[in-house]
Order: sequence, then structure tokens, then C-alpha cells
Amino acid sequence: METAIIKERQTRKFKDVAYFRSEETYTLLPFRFHRMPDGREILVNEIGDYMVVPSGTTARIINREINNNDPEDAVLYEDLVAAFFIAEQAVPDLLEVMATRYRTKKSFLDSFTSLHIFVISLRCEHTCHYCQVSRVTSDKNKFDMSRVHIDAGIDMMMRSPARQLTMEFQGGEALLAFDNIIYAVEKAKVAGEQHNKQITYVICTNLAPLTDDMLVYCKENNILISTSLDGPVYVHDKNRHKPDASSYRLAVDGIHRCREILGEENVSALTTTTRLSLDYPIEIVDEYVALGFRNIFLRPISPYGFATKSVNKNKYETSRFLEFYKTALQRIIRHNLDGYFIREDYTAIILKKLLTPFPVGYVDLQSPAGLINSVIVFNYDGAIYASDEARMLAEMKDFTFRLGTLGETSYEEVFYGEKAQIISEAMLNESLPGCSECAFQSYCGADPVFNYATQGDMYGFRPDNAFCQRNMELIQYIITLMEDDKQVEKIFRSWITGKS
Ligand code: SF4
Repeated sequence: METAIIKERQTRKFKDVAYFRSEETYTLLPFRFHRMPDGREILVNEIGDYMVVPSGTTARIINREINNNDPEDAVLYEDLVAAFFIAEQAVPDLLEVMATRYRTKKSFLDSFTSLHIFVISLRCEHTCHYCQVSRVTSDKNKFDMSRVHIDAGIDMMMRSPARQLTMEFQGGEALLAFDNIIYAVEKAKVAGEQHNKQITYVICTNLAPLTDDMLVYCKENNILISTSLDGPVYVHDKNRHKPDASSYRLAVDGIHRCREILGEENVSALTTTTRLSLDYPIEIVDEYVALGFRNIFLRPISPYGFATKSVNKNKYETSRFLEFYKTALQRIIRHNLDGYFIREDYTAIILKKLLTPFPVGYVDLQSPAGLINSVIVFNYDGAIYASDEARMLAEMKDFTFRLGTLGETSYEEVFYGEKAQIISEAMLNESLPGCSECAFQSYCGADPVFNYATQGDMYGFRPDNAFCQRNMELIQYIITLMEDDKQVEKIFRSWITGKS
């Protein structure tokens, strides 16, 4: 028995270098594979190129059975060489090319933290059952960010090596503290000039408190608006409850006013998928089309904050979300086929990873993970968190991902301190159990906060991890759609080029 276990373990060790080289045939380059339910295999190499091949091909490649001189294998052989799965020389001439492509894919790391989220107030006039933060309705002094903390947050933001910064104002409802936003923007403009930074400003808002004066200020300062729209009125108003008013009407009216004054491209909307939303994938997509949107971002509900308190309304199986997502995606493809360009943003992010050599620094889907090295959050009370999800967790009184306090903790301690080092050990999917062998590693990411919130530790357990289940299924689904229908591939390519 013991011998059998030792043998089993030995098979998981790297083979001797001679195994990968061959004088007679070809050299194997690093790649992984995934078997699809229909038997086909997806091969993915270290730099994110992929090929879909018939069942059994992986074994044939590894056993060196692909024969260049066999007419049936000739095309496959050429494709494998061209896409860096095998090489004709022991050390391929193109090693430098591969290294450059790998560095390019990871170059989102070059500028370090660019997104700085300021939770400018925790106050809110909505009472959404899925709200990820615990909103409060009064006591401006207690729940608005103090000017001392705003100043300290701007100072820390200026320490970032990134030249291009994004300063995002969140709440609660950020517009309730618009005086704070003006103060922060004016301060950041001066500091940005001194430190040679280009700053993009974004306000995340439900648009209910929007006034014309606010819009004029946003226009003058190139401030972008990001809002929430969960679908038609009967979904949105149930998800996003506002006492004595229709949140949907206020949001739609606000979107029109923003477009009119700021321009269509400067206002975007996000959906949150609640249990109610799951019944309306087509209606939600159609609502976005009816309102003239050219993109939609279908997001599952986050397992944090108030969302976990209303379990009946918010908890659902990943399989139900996937069913919803696929139906919605089919509807979006249908609209494109009918001549209306509309893109689903999560699919577009994955497509960019699949089809281009460019870096994709989307914080929820990158390795190393986006927290700390791409995003940092300054909470209304001055606490500093590793990500937006980390501060939502803190609203549940779990401060695992709290990195310090504005004005008290140094830049070095926040970004390179002991806490950041501990978290960073779980930030690379290249070294996480399960992910390290996964074919989809270069398209996926690592999410220590999600793992911790749902499974109790930052590393997570892949076989029943919802982040893993969602991404594995969606990546496979997107590849299958492109493989099986060239019209869909054409549409998908238009989503990353922006050309229909
Ligand atoms: S989370 Fe899952 S799909 Fe993503 S890389 Fe890890 S094992 Fe693969």
C-alpha cells in the first residue's frame, strides 16, 4: 500500500529534462489542457494561446506521435509549432519572443496601484436588500469622510508609482457628500499637477440626489458617472428599494440627464444579479438595449455585507447564475446578429485575454490578484482596505484585510508591510492548489478575499469554489461558442476592437 502511494507521488514530480527534449521528433513546450464535456480538448500554453483539438490529441502530442510527414497531421503539427506548444529545436529560437509576450501579459503590474477608492460617505437614502455596505441615513459628521482623511488619502495616492490614476468616489450614496467630492477633486487636481499625475475621476451613484449643479461641476472636471441599473422597473425597484419613490425612474431620468450634459460615453451602468433577476435574463438585456446602452456588465451578487443578511433574496447556486448568464449572453449575441452592437463586459474581458497579447488589468480577474497592487480603498472612517470587497467584509466586523489607517500608517507599511505580504502569498493562481495545473490559469485570476469570505481561508478549495466554478464554466463556454459558430466569433472579435 505504502509503495503504491510513493509511486503515485512520484508520478506528480517533474520528469527529467530529457523527457521534454527529443533528437528525433520535437521538444515539448509548457502547456496545460482541459477536456470539454464533448471530448474535445483545449490546449493552453504559458503565454495564453489556445487551440481546440480532437479527443486524444494531448496524449498524442506528449507521446510524440504527431508526425510532420503524415498528411493527416501536417496542419496540426504546423499549428502546434506556430502557437508555441512544441518546438523543432531543443531550445527554440523564439524563446525571447515567448519571454517578451509573457512580460507583456503581466505588464499591468508595471505601474502598481492605480485605482484609489474613496468611500466619501456611508450615508444613503436607498434601502437595497443586497447593499454590500451597511448604509446609514443620518449623522453626517460620523459617517462622512473627514477632510483630514481625504488629505491623507490624496497624499498616499500621490505616492503611487502609477502616472495614470483613477480616483473613484463611492458610498453609501456618494452624491450625498458632494461638498466632500468637490473638496477632494480640487485638492487632487493641485497635487496631481505637482506630482505629474493624470487623474480620472469617477463617481459611483444611484443618481437619485443628482442636481444640475452637480452635473455642471462633473462636466467642467471631466468626472465620469457609474450607476446601477438592474433591469426593467419591476426588477430594479424590487432590488433597489427607495422609500416613497421609484429608484428605477430616478436612475433612468438621471442617465438621460448625464448623457445630455456629459456625453453618452461618460455614463455607464452595472447590473447586480439577485435571485429575482435570475428569472429575467432576456428582459434585463432588452432593457439595456431599449435605453440605448452599448454595453452591459452582468455581475453575480457579492457574498458580503447586507447581501448575506437577506439570504432568501440573495443566495443562489452558481449553476443558476451560469444558466442566467448564458441565456442573457445568447440574447446579447442575438441583438448583435440583428445589427445592434452591444457588448457584455465580463465576456469581453475574457475575450481580450483569449484573443490578444495585451495585458488585461481587471482587478477581479488577474494574477497576481488586483487587491493592493491595482486597487486600494480608503474608507469613510480613515481605515485602509485591500479592496472594495475587503471593506465590505469589515462591515461584517471582520478586519482581516484592513491594512492601516489614513494619517497613521505609512505608505510602506500599507503596501509592503506584514499584512500585505501575508495576503500576497495567496494572490497568484500560478501557485494555488488546483489553479497551478488548470488550463485556464492565464485567463482567470486569484481572489483571496472571496476565498476567505466563502471558504474560510485565503487559498480556497477549488472543487467547490464558486469563483472557480463560474470562471471555468464561462471560459469554456466562450471558447465553445467561438469554435462552433464563426459568426459568433466575428461578433466577439468586434467586442474587443470596438468595431462592428
Ligand atoms: S480558479 Fe478555477 S478556473 Fe480559475 S485558474 Fe483556478 S482552477 Fe482554473
